[in-house]
Amino acid sequence: MVEVKGGSSATKVASGAGAPSSSKECAGCGKLISDRYLLKALDLYWHEDCLKCGCCDCRLGEVGSTLYTKANLILCKRDYLRLFGNTGYCEACTKVIPAFEMVMRARSNVYHLECFACQQCNHRFCVGDRFYLCENKILCEYDYEERLVFANMAYNPPSIAQLKRQLPKLEG
Ligand SMILES: [Zn+2]
Ligand SMILES: [Zn+2]
Ligand SMILES: [Zn+2]
Ligand SMILES: [Zn+2]
Repeated sequence: MVEVKGGSSATKVASGAGAPSSSKECAGCGKLISDRYLLKALDLYWHEDCLKCGCCDCRLGEVGSTLYTKANLILCKRDYLRLFGNTGYCEACTKVIPAFEMVMRARSNVYHLECFACQQCNHRFCVGDRFYLCENKILCEYDYEERLVFANMAYNPPSIAQLKRQLPKLEG
């Protein structure tokens, strides 16, 4: 079967509109289509009930639904993306994240679950832990604060007085 990039959609056509040999064979069940309307998709004809997603059985002849084919499967968009799409690239290890995998999200970034850790100290976050996104790196609260201090020192070298204010802990 032809692989359709970006998906295609079915068109509903009236069967037997004038054509002498109007009976078409359904590509789904193999029987002749004697219904009033039939679906044309992927250059084949289908009963309205036969053009279904091979995964979730949803009908693909509905208006606006897009169908995708891959490896002899006809799939709805949702299942296609779930099975063959990908979520994006892990911001930490830069590898592809398959669409069916669980991901962690931070702002617009996505991460493998196992990659979602402080990129400074490898601390794994638990529910409720705070994390920070700093220069596109995930940081735990501790490393984030430490980095903030260093960043401030690098970008505008502080006088001793400023440094003292930023690092009150060092004073005592
Ligand atoms: Zn059929
Ligand atoms: Zn489906
Ligand atoms: Zn990763
Ligand atoms: Zn850390």
